[in-house]
Amino acid sequence: MNRAMFFEKLESNAVKCNLCPHTCVLQDGQTGICFARKNINGNMYPISYGKITACALDPIEKKPLNRFFSSSNILSIGSFGCNLKCSFCQNWNISQEEAKSEESTPEQIVEIALGAMSDKNIGIAYTYNEPLIGYEFVYDCAVLAHENGLKNVLVTNGYINAEPMKKLLPYIDAMNIDLKSFSNAFYHEMCKGEIRPVMEIIKLCAKACHVEVTTLLIPGKNDANQEIEELSRWLASLSPIIPLHLNRYHPDFKMTELQAISRERQNELAEIAGKHLKYVFCGN
Ligand code: SF4
Repeated sequence: MNRAMFFEKLESNAVKCNLCPHTCVLQDGQTGICFARKNINGNMYPISYGKITACALDPIEKKPLNRFFSSSNILSIGSFGCNLKCSFCQNWNISQEEAKSEESTPEQIVEIALGAMSDKNIGIAYTYNEPLIGYEFVYDCAVLAHENGLKNVLVTNGYINAEPMKKLLPYIDAMNIDLKSFSNAFYHEMCKGEIRPVMEIIKLCAKACHVEVTTLLIPGKNDANQEIEELSRWLASLSPIIPLHLNRYHPDFKMTELQAISRERQNELAEIAGKHLKYVFCGN
């Protein structure tokens, strides 16, 4: 396994990871918050490299991307781990633990993607768990995919530092980025992260490729009229044609006591967002 990108060596065999805003400092043998990067003998390694936990040909609208090659399919792959710790995670069985996986190389993934082109496949989506903590594998696949005329799509929480994101962006054609709420307190308490870096990444990426944004509506947590109003107004200040997906949370992982909001309420919030944004979609 090659060493990780974006880390620095510290004294006494410690390392500091500069991939995401957590900037974990790891002693020899320790693994980062994301479970995907480990200090082995004073060097950092991307231990999820090539470990595929899920692989499927999905409709592009399932990512969700509603305004990018509509009605096409995309080869979707996932690994394990995540750098946020959302109590309501809908994919917790691969994001919050090292799940069962199969080894693959970028060459094999690209070959599968090319083989599916006759089935309306346009490329590769890095999705299911948080793909950017497996940065090196995504980068290697994305470069090779572009060389072979395939599109690259990221489905991400946007919790990455600007420098690595800028290095990857030339190979990315479209992204769906979560904006989980418009409150730092929510990010802090429910996801163990901060909102500011996510906003900066949305801003950066929206200038560079096709970006759609998803907010998972959780009753009483992030679904106040004012919050959705402020969130959509801010997105519109970047561009009023950024599509916003307002999806409904379903009880899962550590949050099972709340029920999903009603379709009626979801539509009300979409109307509020629609005052600022041209494309608002009510998902699942
Ligand atoms: S990518 Fe992982 S190891 Fe690196 S700073 Fe983020 S959580 Fe820590």
